[in-house]
Amino acid sequence: MINILLRITYLLQEKDPPLVFKIILIILAVVTGLLVAFIVFRGLFLFFEMAFVEYVKKKQFFTHLHFFKNKLPESHKAILENEFAFYNKLNTKEKKNFEHRIQYFIKNWEFIGKDIEVNITMKVKIAATATKLTFGFRDYKIGVLDKIVIYPKAYFSNINQTFHKGEFNMSYKALVFSWEDFEKGYATEDDNLNLGVHECIHALHVSFLKSRKYSTSAAIFLDSFQELTTDIDENVVVKQKLLTSGYFREYAFENHFEFISVLVENFIETPSEFQSQFPKIYIKVKQMLNFNFAGY
Ligand SMILES: [Zn+2]
Repeated sequence: MINILLRITYLLQEKDPPLVFKIILIILAVVTGLLVAFIVFRGLFLFFEMAFVEYVKKKQFFTHLHFFKNKLPESHKAILENEFAFYNKLNTKEKKNFEHRIQYFIKNWEFIGKDIEVNITMKVKIAATATKLTFGFRDYKIGVLDKIVIYPKAYFSNINQTFHKGEFNMSYKALVFSWEDFEKGYATEDDNLNLGVHECIHALHVSFLKSRKYSTSAAIFLDSFQELTTDIDENVVVKQKLLTSGYFREYAFENHFEFISVLVENFIETPSEFQSQFPKIYIKVKQMLNFNFAGY
């Protein structure tokens, strides 16, 4: 390094530095200039977008901007078409974005089978669940996750000495599923129970809590939820109906984490009933997920 610096100093002292040296200097200056311009532009963009989200409307300036879209292998696409109703509800452009994004999860997550062989259907359906729930956001990668652990059936957890169907394990950066129960979530699409959706929302929620300061996606999700809970607290009639209607299972009222997950489970599985029973809460959940596609 010192040698290079000495050489540059020497060349700078020469009256007429070689042409190559001049070219290199110009290239370095241009690259540095572009880099600085990019950093400044990005900073300003995020600043204004955050101000827009916080004070004007819960919307990002853009959600999907993928210059080079990954194409999904036909075998994977067939699984989506046959087993993932949501995908079929998207238009052509949205499908291409979905196909691009799902591959991020398939490629970047480690899938670990415990007494079960992980197959491509498992990977596609779990990754598709994450892609669906984050489809309204630009920050879709769920930074708190890097692996998926799959058991064939409910598994014994040493943490609380009981059988689990699934969980988000924050310290292990993992979503854990009993495959039997994950499949049940999709077998009946309108019973407001979907293990994959439920656990994935826990991970997304924690991920957004960590990135709230700089992520407009996180701001939309968390601030909309804040608005939603404030609305409920201020409206005794709705609050009472929420607790007694039986539309939301009781587990929703354990704490805010479970409330968000159950809200989204119902939103995904029975949007029409949700909208007719709790129209204001429905709008807030839709805003929270920026879910303006597939008929929602
Ligand atoms: Zn939960």
